[in-house]
Amino acid sequence: MLSVIVPAHNEEKNIPLVAAAVKEILSQAAVNYEILLVDDGSSDGTFAAIERAAAADERIRGLKLSRNFGKEAAILAGLEASRGRCCAVMDADLQHPPALLPEMYRLWQGGAMIVQAVKETRGQEGWFNRVCAGLFYRIIGRFTKIDFRRASDYKLLDRKIVDILVKLPEKTRFFRGLSVYYGFPQTQIEFAVAPRASGKTNWSLTKLFRYALDSISSFTAFPLQFTTFLGIIMLLLFLLLGLQTLYNFATGQAVAGFTTVILLLLFIASALSISLGIIGHYIGKIYDEVKARPSYIIEKTAGKGEDHDLRP
Ligand code: UDP
Ligand code: MG
Repeated sequence: MLSVIVPAHNEEKNIPLVAAAVKEILSQAAVNYEILLVDDGSSDGTFAAIERAAAADERIRGLKLSRNFGKEAAILAGLEASRGRCCAVMDADLQHPPALLPEMYRLWQGGAMIVQAVKETRGQEGWFNRVCAGLFYRIIGRFTKIDFRRASDYKLLDRKIVDILVKLPEKTRFFRGLSVYYGFPQTQIEFAVAPRASGKTNWSLTKLFRYALDSISSFTAFPLQFTTFLGIIMLLLFLLLGLQTLYNFATGQAVAGFTTVILLLLFIASALSISLGIIGHYIGKIYDEVKARPSYIIEKTAGKGEDHDLRP
């Protein structure tokens, strides 16, 4: 059986569409399936829509998280509740075409542990988003040696990988990265990003920025060493200026140089603040992991099947 996991945040209108599309395509392709709709703390009628869909079809189940825990947590909730031999994860807004599911399923039957749908094109984006995304992918690509530029969260994973992902102790996750991080054989399949079926994107600029920072720091501690690098640069500058200052002092022309003092102060202050900020970010993450709170809490479930315990 294939479990199709759909994280949804304020996707009231899209729920019936995505459920119908997945149902039609998978029954045509004669694939045995279940659909898991995960309401990630929506403020609209998303869970009501999920309950309606689950009441109409027993292969549909729903989970309602107690608040908005973020897409990564919603995916994790779906993976944990899934029962299929393999799991597909797709967006609720039909930007990930369900028509690809049968082919991804065949590739899995052919032995692929991960079938990754990569974007043919990145869809329409403003120049600012393009530049920021480009920078983000370069940084993360450098440290993970994984090219995320065309990666998407549209994937099909073997049960073995799902079990590994679900058992990982870390709280801040980067699903896109983790599923390739462990190096299982994977196959790619291309798709064109469709426009959103309805509603608007859940990503604000600040949300994206936080997501980028969290993703980078969940994969590499290099920014911490960056502070050392900054320190070395400052030390070199210090040596040069120190020599000059001593020379000036020795030759009796020591008073000038107020500009240098101000520039140095500004430079040192910003370098220190940046370093402290980076360290603070990592300490914050350690704090989060140490608290070890659950990544999500299930408030309600919909549809047939054993009830899920409330977590933790
Ligand atoms: N999503 C979610 N929780 C969130 C934000 C988004 O479950 O906090 C879901 C959303 O409902 C959709 C998918 O993640 O199914 C992708 O979100 P969106 O379409 O807003 O992102 P975009 O396609 O613009 O990158
Ligand atoms: Mg979308």
